[in-house]
Amino acid sequence: MERVGDAADKAAVRLAVSMGADEAQVGALVERQAEAKARKAAAQKGQPPAAQNGAPPAGPPMPAPKKKGWQAPQDAKTREKALKDGCPPCAPPLERCWHCFPNLPPAGAWDWLGKDQPGVRDRPGQPIKRFLQPGPHRNFPTRVCRKIYLLPLGDVSGAPAPEVLTELLRLWFCLEVERMKPLPAKALAAIERDEDGCGYGAQIECPSAQKVIHAHKPRDAFIVIGYTMEDLCNSSSGFGFLFGEANLDLSIGLFSFARYADDVPRSSPRFLRRCGMVLCHEASHLFGIKHCVYASCVMNGSNHLEESESRPFALCPVDLRKIQLTLDQAKVNGKDTPPVDLLARQRGLVAFFDAHGLVDDARFGRGLLSALTGEPEPDPEGAEAAAAPPPEGPSPPEPPPPEPPRPLRQLSDQGLKPLVTPGDGQPDAPPRRAEPACRTGRAEPACRTGRADPAAGAAAAESRQEAAGAGLRVAAAR
Ligand SMILES: [Zn+2]
Ligand SMILES: [Zn+2]
Repeated sequence: MERVGDAADKAAVRLAVSMGADEAQVGALVERQAEAKARKAAAQKGQPPAAQNGAPPAGPPMPAPKKKGWQAPQDAKTREKALKDGCPPCAPPLERCWHCFPNLPPAGAWDWLGKDQPGVRDRPGQPIKRFLQPGPHRNFPTRVCRKIYLLPLGDVSGAPAPEVLTELLRLWFCLEVERMKPLPAKALAAIERDEDGCGYGAQIECPSAQKVIHAHKPRDAFIVIGYTMEDLCNSSSGFGFLFGEANLDLSIGLFSFARYADDVPRSSPRFLRRCGMVLCHEASHLFGIKHCVYASCVMNGSNHLEESESRPFALCPVDLRKIQLTLDQAKVNGKDTPPVDLLARQRGLVAFFDAHGLVDDARFGRGLLSALTGEPEPDPEGAEAAAAPPPEGPSPPEPPPPEPPRPLRQLSDQGLKPLVTPGDGQPDAPPRRAEPACRTGRAEPACRTGRADPAAGAAAAESRQEAAGAGLRVAAAR
């Protein structure tokens, strides 16, 4: 009987071939799979893996084999330059948080930053100095247009509760967030749809929907974020389906969660995490923030679910500073508007994660708080333990040291699994490509994922395109 892990490996190879991988790339992928298998087998036996020729490796412990691929610049000097060059000093000092964020690993062939992948254009990064330069990428709330509106579009049954999403956006951006009334039936009927769809029922045509949303944009809206459980597409641009599309010129984003619940219950924290992360990621694009290469961060692009789910649900110091600077410059409550309180923001997010079962994200958030304050941030269980009387002895227990955040690849409490994962009763299922593999465009970052040509079949389905003016597009298929 074929092991599910083998089936998943084969599926990854099939995907690579369908995306146009040449022989060498496929060979490299197979080699990496074999190495991973050997490491796993060795770990199960508690031994280092055998060398490829079958002989035991010389000397003890096997270091993890070096992954080839482009390595994002994450040294202290690059980070300091990205965060501080051309930027006023900030309190609390965000540079204290760098150690909380894992480095981005070297990019594999199919990763966002890999060779010939959409992230190649993101490799130079967007340091604060560049972000602060005037240009069409800057987008500010104003005293009049100060609210973020969340619009349920069409069928939203099964989506996370709107009050949960609005609360998340409010905490994330420190702005008023309001749930927009559903569009009137006449407006909904005016939105073009592709009735044939792409396996998920009739699809909403994004440009048409954005146009309609824009026509109903409230006067005090800074940005409008539409979400739906219906599938999205952009037929005129050849995208058979899209996970989302953000239009900085219109300050409108539209995202579908339809494809995030294939393998998880819609009531699960994992589904909420997927939806919440894409919402915050895309809405941050509407602030003019491009993809991040300075650390593993929610603003990294991603080509597949393993990448997106390995990110922390948090902004690295550079991206958090961009939000902070934008809001502090905007002063939506007039000249006496107090600066953004980053500690309060972080505490609010930790409480949100705790309340919604996002255990690891809450722990990560507490690590950030500890780094910002320099004080230990006990977790709820730790707090209970600390409140209990000491068993014996006169001296009180020492406060626990700040807990470093765990690597995000260990999100086991939330039941997260890697992308090419055996199981789920679908041993031969192809790898999932569930997160928009975003690209940073010039003036209007927009994240799109879709199939290049629905009629062209699976072989053409993984093609990637960049369309003029739209900023970011990625074609992908299942
Ligand atoms: Zn970042
Ligand atoms: Zn993006």
